[in-house]
Amino acid sequence: MITLDHHPSGRHFLQIPGPSPVPDRLLRALSLPTIDHRGPEFAALGKRVLSGMQQVFGTQHPVVIYPASGTGAWEAALVNTLSPGDAVLMYETGHFASLWQKMARRLGLVPEFLARPGTCAATGLPLSWRHGVDAALIGERLRADPGHRIKAVCVVHNETSTGVTSDIAAVRAAIDAAGHPALLMVDTISGLASADYRHDEWGVDVSVSGSQKGLMLPPGISFNALSPKALEASRHAGCAKAFWAWDEIVEMNRTGYWPYTPNTNLLYALSESLDLLLTQGLPAVFARHQRWAAGVRAAVQAWGLPIQCADPAVCSPVLTGVVTPAGVDADALRALIHRRFDLSLGTGLGKVKGRMFRIGHLGDCNDLTLMAALSGVEMGLRLAGVPLAGSGVQAAMDHFAGHPAPDGPAAG
Ligand SMILES: *Cc1c(COP(=O)(O)O)cnc(C)c1O
Repeated sequence: MITLDHHPSGRHFLQIPGPSPVPDRLLRALSLPTIDHRGPEFAALGKRVLSGMQQVFGTQHPVVIYPASGTGAWEAALVNTLSPGDAVLMYETGHFASLWQKMARRLGLVPEFLARPGTCAATGLPLSWRHGVDAALIGERLRADPGHRIKAVCVVHNETSTGVTSDIAAVRAAIDAAGHPALLMVDTISGLASADYRHDEWGVDVSVSGSQKGLMLPPGISFNALSPKALEASRHAGCAKAFWAWDEIVEMNRTGYWPYTPNTNLLYALSESLDLLLTQGLPAVFARHQRWAAGVRAAVQAWGLPIQCADPAVCSPVLTGVVTPAGVDADALRALIHRRFDLSLGTGLGKVKGRMFRIGHLGDCNDLTLMAALSGVEMGLRLAGVPLAGSGVQAAMDHFAGHPAPDGPAAG
């Protein structure tokens, strides 16, 4: 633990799925002097980060940057496009989908929460929290809405509470096949810049993201990527909005400025992050996360513990959820590992609290930092008396040694 009066030696291992470890180059950029946000240099920075974010989202259309956490950008997506009383079809993939649904209700919308029915016999967990979005369920529900009362479909791309991704192109296809005009809104707060994401190509109307996950920044800024259809909807939407309203922001952003004081120093860091990501190339960044995820899953399988994601085709490249055996409190285990090894793991959220923990493999990681994290987990599991089938550390070493990174040190 790092506090003002306690400095353990070595680095703290922040292996939660956001905030993720921040590269030193970004930390240094954060410490540059704050400049006049109405001055001449600022516009170049503003334009640079806006255009870089368009590349990361995969869009030609406007991206909005808010000085807020991801939750603010969730609200912005809803209030810019919808009117009080509008029906919204949301899909329960886990805790974050549940929170977005709760927010929609608080805003006076009428969310309907679809979920894959049933409970997993082996773990007792809801099946909906072990699988991705079932696009067929969405298509079926939309076909039963011939009057088009449903105004938007909202799904989470990378459900950070479970470590499961969803096929967004399949959701778009299901909406189109139903001939339904609902907007498609996607939370890719933890997916963007780590997992493949294509706002325009997948036909997303509003994408929501945040700074402290794949973009490797500290928390504090968040994003909406828009479609022409979303912009059109925003001209008639009846929800009250002022700070979140896209029109004034998009208008001023054309010149590289904001209608209010933007988060100048975080934008310096964002500029560095975009430079890192786009220089490496997004396909290489996505492949790197897939490879880390495969190594971590090899470890969990060797321990003989269930991976929360029950469908190998959609396991998250960003984090891995590990289900603890019945009777082993995952939070007590996390606390033990934190106390003994200065390693932070993600807690189980909502319906899976105490039943699982999460290993983040996003942000400024490499094979050896992940090996250290897995060692901490394995030592903690043994100290907690959890019976293990074998050594996950050995399995991960074998995986990483046997699968050289295409863009790794040896390739350079
Ligand atoms: C982190 C996260 C959020 C919440 O973002 P905040 O920055 O904490 O407000 C929402 N959805 C997903 C999928 C997330 O990973």
